[in-house]
Amino acid sequence: MNILVANLGSTSFKFRLFRFDGAGAAALLAKGGYERVTDYGKAIDDCLAELQAGGHVRSPADLHGVGFKTVLGKNLTGCLRADTDERVIAALDGFKEIAPAHNPPYALGIRRFREKLPGVPLVALFETAFYQWMPEAATRYAVPQAWYEAGVRRYGFHGASHKFAAERSAELLGRADIAERVRQLYQTGPASVASAATGAKPLRVISCHLGGSSSVTGIRDGVAVGTSMGLSPQSGLPQNNRVGDLDSAAVPFVMKTLGLSLAEVERQMTKEGGLLGLSGVGNDLRDVRAAAQQGNARAQLALDVFVHSARHWIGAYLVELGGCDALVFTAGIGENNPDLRAAICANLGGLGLELDPAKNGALRGAEGEISAAASRTKVFVIPANEELVVARETLRCISAQN
Ligand code: ADP
Repeated sequence: MNILVANLGSTSFKFRLFRFDGAGAAALLAKGGYERVTDYGKAIDDCLAELQAGGHVRSPADLHGVGFKTVLGKNLTGCLRADTDERVIAALDGFKEIAPAHNPPYALGIRRFREKLPGVPLVALFETAFYQWMPEAATRYAVPQAWYEAGVRRYGFHGASHKFAAERSAELLGRADIAERVRQLYQTGPASVASAATGAKPLRVISCHLGGSSSVTGIRDGVAVGTSMGLSPQSGLPQNNRVGDLDSAAVPFVMKTLGLSLAEVERQMTKEGGLLGLSGVGNDLRDVRAAAQQGNARAQLALDVFVHSARHWIGAYLVELGGCDALVFTAGIGENNPDLRAAICANLGGLGLELDPAKNGALRGAEGEISAAASRTKVFVIPANEELVVARETLRCISAQN
């Protein structure tokens, strides 16, 4: 079975082609992408031509499904058919104000795929899917009821990434039972992931997806109990150029005192905040770190704020979970920055979490354990594998409906 995963950005189109064997094992056959895309129809044609030239698919009939990592659709979530279920595009369109950089490209891209590949199953895996079973108290803001009914609540993002971290960390801890149940989560629901039912010890994981955008999620037995991102991906930790958490009073305050329009405030919060706003250097952590090493105080402060925020959220889930069996670092920053990992884990020996400095220092961009032998909490680096999660869920969704 050939499953294409399409990653649609506001001006980019990236793809990966996976082939699944009969036992469900996936091989990555091809990957590629285009920048400065203005016409998704043409990008789809180019992608198919590339796959044909590479000998991977002879015609669209060789594609068994296309998966999309859609972001959010208000109350519509999970893994859904995007070619036949009209609610998917309606939900993306209906909530585009909250994810203006993400929802419109996906709605447009899915429409184009429907036209170009009629009959090929399309599947949307919402990034919010992993948070469907969070306790309600972890999802609500203290806003008037009408705001809540309009959709103002915590949804959570990076669901595919944190789901992979939950599954892989369970495997690394020898809990194949939980890993298998995490794989089935979107088909069977959380009931299947309750250790309580089997009498086994609950598995408590804190997953740190630290990248261009960052979030921390607390996970019990493979099910999210809370996450740092809220209504939109503009929340939680400082992001590359977007503000993270911000007191809501700041918006009317700067509108009045700096004379900014609402549109300008929105632009600055999404383009000039985060690591860029704090450091004044750039939105890539490598540049910020290099500047800090050369003595740039604002760049060092940006790193300190990032670390402080990551620790704040890790602390929240340490309490919520009553401890932590595995702390996971994933995504570009989490996988490649030993210094930052060390700063995030500093002085936690009293809580049973200690890094092995040599292992941590040596590990970049690969999977491995970086905790000290005596550490009660295992600390893992697990490279992000969001596309594989989307491909697997796409296959399952299609297979379940056939
Ligand atoms: P996105 O969220 O856009 O997918 P990534 O997960 O690739 O982004 O994370 C991008 C961030 O990861 C950047 O801030 C970058 O500095 C950092 N990063 C990526 N690769 C490396 C590396 N090899 N060394 C240090 N930092 C890296």
